Amino acid sequence: MSAHIRPDLDAIPAYVAGRNQPGVVKLASNETTFPPLPSVAKAIAEAAELVNRYPDNSAIELRTAIAEFHGVEVANVAAGCGSVAICQELVQITCLAPTDEVLFAWRSFEAYPIVAQVAGAKAVQVSLDGEYAHDLDALAAAVTPNTRVVIVCNPNNPTGTALGAAAITRFLDAVPTDVLVVLDEAYYEYMRLDDHPNGVELGRDRPNVLVLRTFSKAYGLAGLRVGYAVGDPRVITALMKVHIPFSVNRVAQAAAIASLEARHELLERTDAVVAERDRMRDALLAAGYLVPVSSSNFVWLPLGARSAEYGAASAEAGVLIRPYGADGVRVTAGDPHENDLFLSFATAPETLARFLG
Ligand SMILES: *Cc1c(COP(=O)(O)O)cnc(C)c1O
Repeated sequence: MSAHIRPDLDAIPAYVAGRNQPGVVKLASNETTFPPLPSVAKAIAEAAELVNRYPDNSAIELRTAIAEFHGVEVANVAAGCGSVAICQELVQITCLAPTDEVLFAWRSFEAYPIVAQVAGAKAVQVSLDGEYAHDLDALAAAVTPNTRVVIVCNPNNPTGTALGAAAITRFLDAVPTDVLVVLDEAYYEYMRLDDHPNGVELGRDRPNVLVLRTFSKAYGLAGLRVGYAVGDPRVITALMKVHIPFSVNRVAQAAAIASLEARHELLERTDAVVAERDRMRDALLAAGYLVPVSSSNFVWLPLGARSAEYGAASAEAGVLIRPYGADGVRVTAGDPHENDLFLSFATAPETLARFLG
């Protein structure tokens, strides 16, 4: 007999990471293609010399740097082993009963249904609108007395759509103040909206709002696993109670501090990514694809039932992209030559005849 495992886990989809294959272009995980800056690589090397010691469990130096960056107190900041870990912690601090609800749009980030179900909470999904964006009115209307957390992914992964500050503010006004609203801003640095929705500013006077940011995307530290939350000290304190001790390691803390110091250089790099993203979208639109406006470092092709087949064909052409069920495929903006390889597959007459014909 093998060990007893919770039977409900059979129903939970395992997190599917982007595929990786040597010699193949990988546009499947929204990573940045730029290597670490020399100053960041140096901080990593120096921290590596001390890994016989436990890291600072309270990550005080990193949290202080983040607090200064955002103009908040250290008590407003929690660090996590990637912002995905904080997502999981957020469900743990808000949900206990099986009737407790975690509300989010769908399709959105793959991790949300998983963290809800692992915590034994009920995942409640509200469809995106016809433009592949959050339907905030429907989301607000779906709040019930059992709702404990609402997660808004802005810009949304995997569709790339973003909502401006006015829309988010109206939503925050509509949600009861005893419901935690999580603004997941993993792709914040790629937004170029006039009505720029900075969750930290929007949440300043709202203790039920918590913002998630990560060093994995624009800051280029996906391999080190560090993200953070900005919110009310009561929520931050609760997060620290469920935090896995020392899960933000010393190397990650040092790299994140160095990255914040080098933020001007790192954020400048996002202009090149944004230009590539827009170039890809323009080329795909010209070829006849439907492509929602993207505010992130990827584009979304709503190919419906053909998505898996399209993903396989792209892999065969040497480019790994990410298909999502029967909804669509997500393609990360990589280096220009990588994107060109994808575009030459995507706009080839055979591909167009097969998938858009
Ligand atoms: C990539 C991503 C994150 C960040 O993940 P890390 O755990 O910080 O690497 C969070 N939310 C969304 C929607 C993402 O796409």
